[in-house]
Amino acid sequence: MTLVACKICGLVQRVGALAPGAQAVCPRCGAVVVEHKVNTLGRTAAFSLAALMFYLPANIYPILQMELYGAHSENTVLDGCVSLFQHGQRLVAVIVFLASLLIPFLKLLGLFYLVITTRFASRRRRLERTWIYRLIDVIGPWAMLDVFLLAILVALVKLGELATVRPGPGLFAFAAVVVLTILATTSFDPAQIWETPDERA
Ligand SMILES: [Zn+2]
Repeated sequence: MTLVACKICGLVQRVGALAPGAQAVCPRCGAVVVEHKVNTLGRTAAFSLAALMFYLPANIYPILQMELYGAHSENTVLDGCVSLFQHGQRLVAVIVFLASLLIPFLKLLGLFYLVITTRFASRRRRLERTWIYRLIDVIGPWAMLDVFLLAILVALVKLGELATVRPGPGLFAFAAVVVLTILATTSFDPAQIWETPDERA
């Protein structure tokens, strides 16, 4: 038995042990109060691994293919950063580098760390691990997508009249990384960090 407050209406209620896959619903407003998700760690690990597999092609293959007066050019994210840096846009270059290369990678590392420590029911640094989860959850969708779209938008606006801009294979890999990382983050149940092994059985 645990006391839980409904996140929607605030009603505090007692919830007993739930069967795997079962949900406890708030008697007042009908919102899901507690959910016993099945195999959350396995799912988080699988989505993170899949995201990691797309991370490499996302950075090796061009995200944009351009035709400009018959000249063909292909750009990876790193090319974009280097080019921005060389054109004096150093701050933008650093932001794009952090948001689309470094942070997504650190996020995946963080998820693997959470999965492994939770799997082995580590009791160490539980507060820090909860913070890592929160951080990953908060920066989740923002880190990559926005800056990335912005960069494309700038390219399109600047070159729209002169050039044909087409998405490259790297762009699809990038989208896969974004979506899979979000799925991995939502699959993870941070409450598991605080559960003792017998509670989770
Ligand atoms: Zn409620």
